[in-house]
Amino acid sequence: MTDELLKWRSEFPILDRAVYLISHSLGAMPKQTYTRLQDYADTWATRGVRAWAEGWWDMPVSVGNELAPIIGAEPGCAWIPKGIARDKLGYILTGVDALRSGQWPLSDREPCALETTVPRILAAGDIRSGSTKRVGFAVGDGSLAVTCVHKLTAIRS
Ligand SMILES: Cc1cc2nc3c(=O)[nH]c(=O)nc-3n(C[C@H](O)[C@H](O)[C@H](O)COP(=O)(O)OP(=O)(O)OC[C@H]3O[C@@H](n4cnc5c(N)ncnc54)[C@H](O)[C@@H]3O)c2cc1C
Repeated sequence: MTDELLKWRSEFPILDRAVYLISHSLGAMPKQTYTRLQDYADTWATRGVRAWAEGWWDMPVSVGNELAPIIGAEPGCAWIPKGIARDKLGYILTGVDALRSGQWPLSDREPCALETTVPRILAAGDIRSGSTKRVGFAVGDGSLAVTCVHKLTAIRS
């Protein structure tokens, strides 16, 4: 075979022993994961909470910048369209706040609890203005998003 991706096969040890068709978060583990996890553990063990200021805090952005070209985006680009209103800290307005912003465009209905100023686009979790920035609240928002989707689907049909 001439598939150019085959040169990467040896980077995934499980493929030596199995036909492995899983592609979600437990897809074939790359060999380098051993080193990376060891680096992470070493940093945690030696730097403790200081590790945040020494790289961890910026990691979502630096990793995002590495991923951007793979999905056809520019490194450092913003993803929130202008029509989606935000508060002064940059968090996305939803529900009543979206309505009060004066930027809700529809007159025949109000936004759902998690709906932004762009109808049918929802925001949930930390990114939402006024949400409590905790895991439990983000999970709750995720559930509420399902309810909103049901409501919006019913409106459409
Ligand atoms: C240091 C620290 C300690 C914390 N400790 C606690 C704690 O002890 N208990 C607690 O309850 N909460 C804690 N929190 C808060 C908790 O982590 C957050 O409230 C929670 O993770 C929010 O979940 P989320 O899904 O809204 O956002 P996130 O978990 O931030 O998920 C958003 C995801 O979207 C991805 N993303 C961003 N932009 C894009 C894009 N353009 N395209 C694709 N993907 C994108 C990000 O990479 C990320 O994976 C802590 C937070 C921090 C920073």
